[in-house]
Amino acid sequence: MKTALFLRSWMFLHHSDSSQASTLRLIAVSCFCRMLSSRAASMNGNGPTKLVDPLEDPVPGVGTYEDFNTIDWVREKSKDRDRHREITNKSRQSTVNLLHSVSDAFSGWLLMLLVGLLSGALAGGIDIAAHWMTAMKEGVCVVHFWYNHEHCCWASNETTFQERHHCPQWQSWAELITGTSEVGAFAYIVNFLMYIFWALLFSFLAVALVRAFAPYACGSGIPEIKTILSGFIIRGYLGKWTLMIKIITLVLAVSSGLSLGKEGPLVHVACCCANILCHLFTKYRKNEAKRREVLSAAAAVGVSVAFGAPIGGVLFSLEEVSYYFPLKTLWRSFFAALVAAFTLRSINPFGNSQLVLFYVEFHAPWHLVELAPFILLGIFGGLWGALFIKANIAWCRRRKTTRLGHYPVMEVLVVTALTALIAYPNIYTRMSGAELISELFNDCSRLDSSQLCGYQQPANNTDTGVGNTLPDRPAGPGLYTALWQLALALVFKMMITVITFGMKVPSGLFIPSMAVGAITGRLLGVGMEQLAYYNHDSIIFKGWCSQGADCITPGLYAMVGAAACLGGVTRMTVSLVVIMFELTGGLEYIVPLMAATMTSKWVADAFGREGIYEAHIRLNGYPFLEPKEEFEHSSLAVDVMRPRRSDPALAVLTQEGMTVGEVEALVESTHYSGFPVVVSQQSQRLVGFVLRRDLLISIDNGRKRQEGVVSSSQVVFTEHTPSQAPDAPPPLRLRGIMDLSPFTVTDHTPMDITVDIFRKLGLRQCLVTHNGRLLGIITKKDILKHMAQITNRDPDSILFN
Ligand code: ATP
Repeated sequence: MKTALFLRSWMFLHHSDSSQASTLRLIAVSCFCRMLSSRAASMNGNGPTKLVDPLEDPVPGVGTYEDFNTIDWVREKSKDRDRHREITNKSRQSTVNLLHSVSDAFSGWLLMLLVGLLSGALAGGIDIAAHWMTAMKEGVCVVHFWYNHEHCCWASNETTFQERHHCPQWQSWAELITGTSEVGAFAYIVNFLMYIFWALLFSFLAVALVRAFAPYACGSGIPEIKTILSGFIIRGYLGKWTLMIKIITLVLAVSSGLSLGKEGPLVHVACCCANILCHLFTKYRKNEAKRREVLSAAAAVGVSVAFGAPIGGVLFSLEEVSYYFPLKTLWRSFFAALVAAFTLRSINPFGNSQLVLFYVEFHAPWHLVELAPFILLGIFGGLWGALFIKANIAWCRRRKTTRLGHYPVMEVLVVTALTALIAYPNIYTRMSGAELISELFNDCSRLDSSQLCGYQQPANNTDTGVGNTLPDRPAGPGLYTALWQLALALVFKMMITVITFGMKVPSGLFIPSMAVGAITGRLLGVGMEQLAYYNHDSIIFKGWCSQGADCITPGLYAMVGAAACLGGVTRMTVSLVVIMFELTGGLEYIVPLMAATMTSKWVADAFGREGIYEAHIRLNGYPFLEPKEEFEHSSLAVDVMRPRRSDPALAVLTQEGMTVGEVEALVESTHYSGFPVVVSQQSQRLVGFVLRRDLLISIDNGRKRQEGVVSSSQVVFTEHTPSQAPDAPPPLRLRGIMDLSPFTVTDHTPMDITVDIFRKLGLRQCLVTHNGRLLGIITKKDILKHMAQITNRDPDSILFN
């Protein structure tokens, strides 16, 4: 209600210049404040929902699996099949039912369309806002204050092609404050201070909003989405509050100049959109497995809008995040990614009518010999990836285990101040990560990268600097300065990214990782270029420089380096290559990209098979059953099953003979999600499995609907009528809610097979029998705990007892 009033008032403001506007603005603002304060109250435990205090436990659920609920894929799928069968049968009976059946069949596609449209629109908005606020750190467009630096100068008549970033309409803070356009030490200091001020303000707002209203909005969100897609429920993680706060704080965090990107968080944003939109369709609202199909597609949408790479997005979802990815999900992801990319293209946030973020147009072909430096970049990417993961995890663990974790706001402010202080003097660190990568990917025949390429500016300023036979290089002293600055930027980015990723603000890793690789690649590229230039007559380089074009393309090295480093950090391969060529439009450079990413993965895997997301899943203690890793231990089902020696006995129901009161007492005295049903307590022969939730609902319904059912009524799970006294109350028949074919293994089933069954079928629990007698139960969390015990060499582990 408050939200609707707020939105209506806000929309009115933008369509009205009347005097009512100011009144409504006040109403809107006060509604928004009340929304925020009521949310804050609920977060502090004063409101209707009591959530964990983020101070006490910064990421709810850390280190304990108990905050997560497991879903049962098999059961959910079978529920959906039953629902579908029912709708199909009914559709033959009337036209209305037929139309319902048709609308049900199309609801998935409609949902995908909505997810694509909403995510595309939000991503466009985030791009525009982040560009504007990033530019605001350096100055404002005095004519149209809502223009960013680039747009301001594009709109100006005084802008020249060579000096496209200079125009009188764009004024730095020093110019605005002093009123003169003089450049000197004073102006530099004013601009520097204003840069730090805005950076601190943005990052403070980001961390404060996250902490006050949506602790789940921090980080990239990909580890949690992986956990959710693997079959767990994290309450509130994909809710509307998380979405709202994530969008606002993502813009703030990116604009603050911290070494982070918006690409990973956009996956979270798209998944929140999908989850919220699922509530419009019963089919998806009520079925956790179906919802996960939509979330998988949403992950593809996230990457599609983050990079303008729809196919890369689909592959990213398949390779990196999804757990269960049937063909239908593939097609739907493809469709949703396409709609999202189209929406983003229509919004045109970059103002260049291009969907790709770093469009490249290289003029020189690559040579086979260059595969050697590309592989070298792959090795660097792998080493950097492995080192980064180790350093970042060590830092995050330190944050969790020391007092550092108690001051997240202070931490963000200190890191922002450090970043701004060091970044400002160096042009390559002052510009945003995306701008830096774009600059490094540039082909040297383009004038705007003249300093980086080391061209001598020709007298008439129109020549591209390319000689008739040999490129006019090495020439400018600017190149050496640029290389020096780039080397410093590399060291800085490497160090600051380690401490930035994991802070309590939305932060993605794609852009910082790519930036590290792009700088390294560019440095190597320039080195190779010099080598080729000075040795153009040698056997290796003969013919490279004699075509009136560049000897080699340093921008290509930057591109390959970016892919290698991102691959080393995330361990993506196929999707990464596709993202890279969609991102740059450089289709003919697939071989260098493939060589570098594969090498990077091999090298990084040699130091540990976990990518950064898996490492964070483990660090945060999320229950995630890794589908790629083999279970290599020789334990048996009997070692993992519950109850153990010290535990209370297995809580079971008998198919006959228990009363409603006894069943209720059993359910209330335990917290288990389900109960095996046996023939009798003596025989312990397994009959089926009943879920706690179904049991409670059915008893409740039975009492209401079936006359005469009381606490002393017998609960019956069989088809035949039980023998009982003639005056006994009627029995409550619950056979319908019982799973008659629960998954079972024997006590001697090796755990590697059991783990495989859990992974492949998405089971929630499995019963353990011996000669047909029920012995125990294994849940997914039991397996995860067992695996954790084995890897940590926990002395409590059964294997070491
Ligand atoms: P989730 O919270 O997602 O449902 P879980 O593993 O906590 O997963 P529970 O059913 O609550 O599921 O089981 C908690 C623990 O109790 C597990 O170790 C499980 O093996 C054990 N358990 C489950 N059902 C029974 C039962 N009927 N009798 C005895 N122990 C059980």
